Amino acid sequence: MRERMRTMRLYIADSTDNLRTIALKYEIGIKELICLNPHIIDPLSNIAGQQVKLPPLKGLSDKNVDLPPCTLQLINPEAREQWIPLSSLDEMQHKEYDVLIVGTGAGGGAVLRRLIQQLANSGKRIGVLERGGLLIPTHAQNIETMTSRRVFDYYSSQANYIDNYLSGQIYALGGRTLFWSSTCPRMTDSELLQWPIPLSELTRYYDLAEKALSVTPNFTKGAPLTQLLLDRLQRNGYPDATDEPLAVNLEPPNAFGVMNSNPVFSSVHFLAEALNYPYDLAIHARVVKVLTDQNRCVGVEVISHNKQTFTLKAKNVVLSASTFGSAQILLNSDIEGRAIGHYMTNHSRVLGLGQINRNEFPEVLGPLRILVPGQIDRPYQIQIIGPDNYPWVQYAEQPLREKWSFFLATLGKVETRYDNYVSLDPVKRDKDGVPELNIHFSYSAKDEEVIRLMGEGVKQAAAAMNAALVSDEGPALCQLTIGSDIHEMGTCRMGEDPSTSATNHFGQIHGITGLYVADNSVIPTSGTANPTLTTVALAFRTADEIAKQLK
Ligand SMILES: Cc1cc2nc3c(=O)[nH]c(=O)nc-3n(C[C@H](O)[C@H](O)[C@H](O)COP(=O)(O)OP(=O)(O)OC[C@H]3O[C@@H](n4cnc5c(N)ncnc54)[C@H](O)[C@@H]3O)c2cc1C
Repeated sequence: MRERMRTMRLYIADSTDNLRTIALKYEIGIKELICLNPHIIDPLSNIAGQQVKLPPLKGLSDKNVDLPPCTLQLINPEAREQWIPLSSLDEMQHKEYDVLIVGTGAGGGAVLRRLIQQLANSGKRIGVLERGGLLIPTHAQNIETMTSRRVFDYYSSQANYIDNYLSGQIYALGGRTLFWSSTCPRMTDSELLQWPIPLSELTRYYDLAEKALSVTPNFTKGAPLTQLLLDRLQRNGYPDATDEPLAVNLEPPNAFGVMNSNPVFSSVHFLAEALNYPYDLAIHARVVKVLTDQNRCVGVEVISHNKQTFTLKAKNVVLSASTFGSAQILLNSDIEGRAIGHYMTNHSRVLGLGQINRNEFPEVLGPLRILVPGQIDRPYQIQIIGPDNYPWVQYAEQPLREKWSFFLATLGKVETRYDNYVSLDPVKRDKDGVPELNIHFSYSAKDEEVIRLMGEGVKQAAAAMNAALVSDEGPALCQLTIGSDIHEMGTCRMGEDPSTSATNHFGQIHGITGLYVADNSVIPTSGTANPTLTTVALAFRTADEIAKQLK
């Protein structure tokens, strides 16, 4: 007689259980229970927390159906799978990697995604090391319970601060792209002309980056509040004001059932796209040093979350651990270079709180996101964001009110100066025994002049929109704390001259073959644009160079 389809049951033992008590409780013969659970040697031993297999319920077996049992393994009780395939450092230490990427934020994700495209079917071995764990599997804004306010509060609760500098780092798969606001302008041409890469090439890589991040100006296209204020700006002295370019995938699901459940971009999207090609990914794997031999990179030293040290071998290492993280690793590895850690820059910020009267606008306000880009004679950018804290869809759930506020948030160009730098503390060490990072940063007289101009610019833009600058709490026009832009850059800046740059124009550390940097730290000058699109474009270019060398 054919064996009938049987549905095994699973039971998790509690602190009072052994096989005998379970046999009694479920009226099962002890011999049958022992046969089903050969991993439990002693039927009287305490098995709290363990899975115990029980025979199927009588009523569930389909005695009268003459079909063969299904052999597909529908449930694997032993599986320890995560939502992304993971490797252990234990396994990784026995391999030699063609490329090891350190960090999974904007830069690391972009290098991985591009390398996988370039090296498909080449048999090259790629590894990825991430200091943090699996915090959330997508941009926080894609989680239904998140309002814009909650995204920011959640970010603040998870952020790590260095030396009280107000830029929170996220140590988790995806880095800060799990929480970023996804504003994606390009740097202005006048800025890019000072960089060590031809403008035409940068333009090509910007095109690729915008496509990869699904950058679109259409998020607010047609939204009543945005259109009215944009129209006022364009008519009153800001012809270059535009709908803000955002990394948000607005493509509807297509006819074949492809679902788009992750509209706001995070670099988890890059990690997912890269899964078409096998790569090893270890989390809770903090790189503390890069290892070199005769000016050639040969691998990295890594600390696991239980403080075990591993040495991983690699022909190429790409540091994408952020402006602070990558500089810290290089300094801790005694890599020589006058510019390493120096020329740190960021964006200064002035914030205006605008207010509009509800009765001036149609019933539905819609989201508000406008960008006034920087120019040669405007050394700052203005973002107009609202209404209130609801630039995203959740605002629609808020009660109708007579007055709504919005932000005029500026980013000011900050000079690139040797005297702004990070260094290792000679005494203090963090919990992994790594010297702590100290940040030495101040604004120059020129930077302060830009801040003054931004204050004037905010007043002028508010007037152009016929909006009042009003706040119920605190000043309606204020300067934000240094570091609140969360855009620090430059500690491994690109350039041709090793005395003023840490890396060459491909992001390779001067004088060390196989050691690259691809994150915000390579950006040579701050410009006025939010940096992430530029970081992705440069990281793609670095990946292309590595792929070329490997072919
Ligand atoms: C709230 C918020 C809003 C923002 N809005 C915008 C915006 O609208 N537009 C914009 O352009 N930018 C924005 N940003 C900034 C943007 O997030 C960063 O520019 C971008 O993420 C930088 O990429 P990165 O690769 O340099 O660093 P990160 O994204 O921070 O990634 C660094 C990664 O390296 C890992 N790491 C660090 N040290 C090590 C180590 N030793 N070993 C292994 N791994 C390590 C970290 O855990 C992390 O995963 C925003 C940021 C925040 C927080």
